[in-house]
Amino acid sequence: MFKNKNFDKKFFPLSTSLMNSDIMRKIFVKGSGELQKQQTLKSSAEIFGKGLHSGVDVRLKIKPAEVDSGIIFLRKDLSDSPKIHASADKVTSVLRATTLEENGVKVFTVEHLMSALNVCGIDNAEIELDAEEPPVLNGNSIDFFKFIKSAGIVEQSKERREICINKIYRVDSDDRKKFIIALPYDGFRVSFTSINPHKIVGIQYADFEITEEIYEKEIAPARTIAYEKEVAALREMGLGLGGTIENVIVYNDEGWLNKLIYPDELVRHKILDVIGDIRLAGFVKCHIIASASGHALNTQLAKKIYSDFKGIKN
Ligand SMILES: [Zn+2]
Repeated sequence: MFKNKNFDKKFFPLSTSLMNSDIMRKIFVKGSGELQKQQTLKSSAEIFGKGLHSGVDVRLKIKPAEVDSGIIFLRKDLSDSPKIHASADKVTSVLRATTLEENGVKVFTVEHLMSALNVCGIDNAEIELDAEEPPVLNGNSIDFFKFIKSAGIVEQSKERREICINKIYRVDSDDRKKFIIALPYDGFRVSFTSINPHKIVGIQYADFEITEEIYEKEIAPARTIAYEKEVAALREMGLGLGGTIENVIVYNDEGWLNKLIYPDELVRHKILDVIGDIRLAGFVKCHIIASASGHALNTQLAKKIYSDFKGIKN
């Protein structure tokens, strides 16, 4: 059973009780036999737009990177193009978006791009930006998904270190009304309940096994959401300046101000965000169950998993 040379007890420390469950046996067999190679881009590609919160014009260039380098943002608008590694320990703010910071240099609203990178299976890439926020595009991740596909994806020489969790990870809000849980699972699945007090939005539930096909069709087109009365307050805070009626679904007390792509577009977008935030821990095989979770809880979950697995190499 332990014949595979890639098996590493530190990487996959199964407890006796977990070994008895069917699901953990399945993960173990797959985890020790079929190792995926790391992947990067085949070529470079550029995309232009405005940041969702900053409203600033930005050029984003995605480039291939060496094995084990991970996803790295480079701020080309600053001298010496400082790097910001896309990992959970670099998250410093979760106010309406996920912000990464390294040596005092920030990049914010990374979650939609990270979501597409996760599903496309990109381990290593350099992402050059000439502003502090990637473009919002259509407020979803479908253009990032197509953009990555258009650059092409190639396998690299080394195996990927996929994270197979061996215990339940859980983060609750202080009032315990919101939570996010990651369970051991042989694949990647997200079950999400969004709870909005407004009758127009209400409670939505969705559950998807995340594959490229399902993501492209059911999740990536789902846009972010805003309450009309909230938009002015956000703008006063310097947020949402790049938001338009095309890239944000807006609702007021009478109904939606723009046409929905899906009747439950909000919960699908919440799943899109979770997929991006959890990528900051690595490629995590798990079943995520969340209720009313946002970037704060998502990234706390990513930090917990990241800190348990960060020192372990292939
Ligand atoms: Zn989002």
